[in-house]
Amino acid sequence: MLASMGVFVSVLASGSRGNSTLISSARTRILVDAGISCRETFKRMKAIGEDAHSLSAILITHEHSDHIYGLRVLAKKLSIPVFMTGATHQAWARAARDEEGCEPELGKLEKFSSGRSFQVGDISVMPFTIPHDAADPVAFTFRAEGTKIGVATDLGYLPLSVIDHLRGCDALVLESNHDLEMLRGGPYPWSVKQRVMSRVGHLSNEALADFFTSDYDGRAAYVVLAHLSEQNNHPEVARVSAEHALGIRRTLLHNRVMLALQSQPTEPIRL
Ligand SMILES: [Zn+2]
Ligand SMILES: [Zn+2]
Repeated sequence: MLASMGVFVSVLASGSRGNSTLISSARTRILVDAGISCRETFKRMKAIGEDAHSLSAILITHEHSDHIYGLRVLAKKLSIPVFMTGATHQAWARAARDEEGCEPELGKLEKFSSGRSFQVGDISVMPFTIPHDAADPVAFTFRAEGTKIGVATDLGYLPLSVIDHLRGCDALVLESNHDLEMLRGGPYPWSVKQRVMSRVGHLSNEALADFFTSDYDGRAAYVVLAHLSEQNNHPEVARVSAEHALGIRRTLLHNRVMLALQSQPTEPIRL
């Protein structure tokens, strides 16, 4: 295995008001989701010392607006390839039609299929299906320079197929959406609570803790808790839940738990 030449990950924004994550090797920079505005994406990349003009491609997980809101403007401004599945593209294009019924154009659209890996520069990307209420939702793992990074949010539960894909990651960005008690007792209408808790909703702190105490291989040096609900979770509640679960297995104490925030980017995690 080659020594790392500068792979890093930074979650630029995370939560129901917009998601975007930067995955970078020495030569290639990938933006996973464009859920914040173009201007905000530029600003946050600058805040971590990066220039948005250096982005190589944008990858989209699914068509929900908190993952795609800034896409059209960002793709036009940067004129870089946008990767998504055919079904995700169709769902987004339909929903984003203008008053005359014209669907939005993407200059460089690249379609991929779940389960089939593809290459962006020197980063190998593996998209895989996740259980979520969108047309064709995926999560990704990335391999570059001997390291592996997993990014999986917006999933109702963790099926074995997803757990398999997340094995061997050096850094994991995983959903820790809500605390079950806070959600049950919180302000959402019952129908929304049911949706969040369903098998195609969002992953709870408790479900993530279960993963850490059972199926997780303990390999990641960094675990980033992401897509936290502002109504039904609290960063410290999510952190304590994850650290407690990781602490149960002594071998996992070297896993560093970090929090991805809605308001600002995480410091780049260098692998
Ligand atoms: Zn979603
Ligand atoms: Zn989302």
